[in-house]
Amino acid sequence: MAGGVVDVVVIGAGFAGLTAARELAKRGNSFVVLEARDRVGGRVYSKQIGTHTFDLGGQWIGPTQNHLAALAKELGVQTFPQYHAGSKLLSWGGKIQRYNGELPRLPILSMIDLLRMQRSFNKLVSQIPPESPWKMPKADKLDSMTLESWKEQFLWSSGSKLFVDIITRAVLTSEPRDVSFLFFLSYLKWGHGLDTLISIPKGAQQDRFIGGVQQIPEKLAKMLEPHVILGAPVRTITQSTEGVTVVSERGTWKAERVIVAIPPVLSGQIHYDPPLSAARDALCSRMPMGSVIKYVATYERAFWRDAGFSGEAFSDTGPTVTTFDDTSHDGGAPALVSFSDGAAARQWSPASPAERQRAVLSEFARFFGPKALHPTHFEEKDWNTDPWSKGCYVGVMTPGTMTSFGHALREPCGRIHWSGTETATEWMGYIDGAIQSGLRAAAEVADRLSSGRGT
Ligand SMILES: Cc1cc2nc3c(=O)[nH]c(=O)nc-3n(C[C@H](O)[C@H](O)[C@H](O)COP(=O)(O)OP(=O)(O)OC[C@H]3O[C@@H](n4cnc5c(N)ncnc54)[C@H](O)[C@@H]3O)c2cc1C
Repeated sequence: MAGGVVDVVVIGAGFAGLTAARELAKRGNSFVVLEARDRVGGRVYSKQIGTHTFDLGGQWIGPTQNHLAALAKELGVQTFPQYHAGSKLLSWGGKIQRYNGELPRLPILSMIDLLRMQRSFNKLVSQIPPESPWKMPKADKLDSMTLESWKEQFLWSSGSKLFVDIITRAVLTSEPRDVSFLFFLSYLKWGHGLDTLISIPKGAQQDRFIGGVQQIPEKLAKMLEPHVILGAPVRTITQSTEGVTVVSERGTWKAERVIVAIPPVLSGQIHYDPPLSAARDALCSRMPMGSVIKYVATYERAFWRDAGFSGEAFSDTGPTVTTFDDTSHDGGAPALVSFSDGAAARQWSPASPAERQRAVLSEFARFFGPKALHPTHFEEKDWNTDPWSKGCYVGVMTPGTMTSFGHALREPCGRIHWSGTETATEWMGYIDGAIQSGLRAAAEVADRLSSGRGT
């Protein structure tokens, strides 16, 4: 068993925790990072599939994600553009439509409705203070309804309602009925607007990382050796006037401060003595993770490109809600990547991997033809059953949570400080937000340490 005395214990070796630790190291503070899994990276996970490495967790980077861009550049990890040339497909009620441009052909009423929706989102989002959305005008009213209730009250057409369903699944891996409307609007604010969130060029899906994004946390962890301890789930945090004691399965550490860099729902599983503030405790149980299963299939040839398809396919039925081209940067490993998001992930998670593979490949064949049935490799990651994520991409807020407990997201509880993408004020839910949150938490802690402040 290890253990010891440090200035700061950091819990979680995802982007947030590793960034916080690196920042503490730069400032000369001693630290240890305790990570439950036997690897670093958390919600990013790159795996060799055949000849190349693919991402089974986070994978894209877009403009304005400056923290991630700078870190990747510093560590020598290069990006390449997401392929998007050619026609896209929308399967609506089982019927497939092929289209070019941003949106499929929709009835005129749906187009007008979508314009109204966009105007309404833009107006509301412009009023949100990113650090405290609960302070926006009419926050209580907006937080008292789900996105589903807003959709049913505000939109007239089935086309625009379908659009809301698909974007909520794609962006939040949740159903519109799961999330507060105020939270959804805040997510648009943090992600620079709906267009940025859903686009490839000029959007959050613009570029990928050569060799996978997990290289970045691996390189960070290497720089922090030997202070990153794997296989060390933290079970108990005890505070006193003297300091804080953190008990993990790999030993007990004493420190001045602790940074908890894990999603709120997982932070609620740690035992705290004394208990957390009532608001923080309530937040932990009211920010469930979204639901997602990610699939990668590799092929001999990018046969969909040959047929003029970009590889993008969106569906309101079946296991594959969103599908994209996932071919390696050098073209050596043609591939498709797809996601079961929201209800589809919940429906398909109990199935066996073989059943999921059959269902996903048959959807690919429905979109791109029978060659899709014969991949060279097929790999999946069900994030819903991973005990150290309990779902992904991100914790979402149920109605009433933002206005009642949002203030507890970053508010320290004594010597405990909160990090993780869920606490970010820009690109919340994304890797960039995780890095921002790590920098913020480290600065917060360093400030307390240098001023010698106790609780
Ligand atoms: C399928 C998928 C696709 C995604 N796509 C993108 C994308 O394209 N672009 C993008 O920017 N983002 C994407 N994301 C989101 C992105 O991966 C996350 O926002 C980001 O990685 C979160 O980092 P984090 O450090 O905040 O949390 P995490 O990565 O969750 O790190 C927390 C760490 O804490 C550990 N931990 C948990 N509990 C304990 C405990 N009790 N004791 C010790 N350790 C503990 C966990 O094992 C984990 O390693 C995606 C995520 C998924 C799953």
